[in-house]
Amino acid sequence: MTETRIKIAVQKKGRLAEGSFALLDKAGVKLAYGKDQLLRRAENMALDLMLIRDDDIPSFVASGACDYGIVGENVLYELQADRAGRLNDLEVALELGFAKCALKLAAPKDGTIACAADLESKAVATSYPGLTKAYLSARGIRADIIEMGGSVEVAPRMHIADAICDLVSTGATLDANGLAAFETVLESQAVMIKRKDAPKDVIGDILIERFKGVIASRQTKYILLNAPKDRLDDVRNILPGAQAPTVAPVVGRDDVVAVHAVCTEAVFWSTLEQLKSVGAQSILVLPIEKMMA
Ligand code: ATP
Ligand code: ZN
Repeated sequence: MTETRIKIAVQKKGRLAEGSFALLDKAGVKLAYGKDQLLRRAENMALDLMLIRDDDIPSFVASGACDYGIVGENVLYELQADRAGRLNDLEVALELGFAKCALKLAAPKDGTIACAADLESKAVATSYPGLTKAYLSARGIRADIIEMGGSVEVAPRMHIADAICDLVSTGATLDANGLAAFETVLESQAVMIKRKDAPKDVIGDILIERFKGVIASRQTKYILLNAPKDRLDDVRNILPGAQAPTVAPVVGRDDVVAVHAVCTEAVFWSTLEQLKSVGAQSILVLPIEKMMA
């Protein structure tokens, strides 16, 4: 009997690729060495990766060439906004929490455009014509959409457009070009996609469960500390998202207990400082390698 292997479309190179490979690695997928530029085989699971441009990932999954894909929501929803048909049969199987960015409207800082309504009869340059058009027309704004492949941020300076709609993460590129964002069209992150009508598959389900574990463990930390017995409640109130900490005796110290807790929310330096201020000592914060509920 031939083994059924699932195919996952992943960006070959770029901002999504790194996070996708890191996630697969943490989920225990070991890739075999191979010369194939398109297909990478996993040596320990019945799955293969198809390495392509991110813009092609939704079509590869929609057509059935791949079972899953890892792509930015921005690309998925742009393709869905732009085209009818099979791409609309795709759905998000899991939000992956990396490659976070936002599609934003932006205009020259010293100009007169400060909100979407100001774009009436103006020209907006973007690589996301589908999402931009949908956003503006939903608000009854008629603007001239100018599609550009890249370098959208130079359009206002070159008098190609009055404003832009572009992906922003830190805002540094906008700032360097004298632009300021004024409205968010879409918040985006990397997502795992599949066809809505895809039959259940065991490997896919295992992978999704493992991805969930990896995502949960990213910000979950294990905290160990010693606390004065009479300040235990204060300590517990400070621990971020700790369900049921273990409290154990400390040999030779009647007034002190050891506290072990799994914290599901971010543990900052300020958290440690607060813990110290209520008397906690020997505070250790450890990363969690794997977790399963
Ligand atoms: P490809 O060659 O695969 O078409 P690309 O040049 O279109 O690559 P990248 O720049 O690698 O794409 O970005 C891929 C995705 O990473 C984007 O579609 C978006 O989801 C995400 N991303 C995260 N932060 C940013 C950012 N600051 N600018 C652009 N994209 C970002
Ligand atoms: Zn692309």
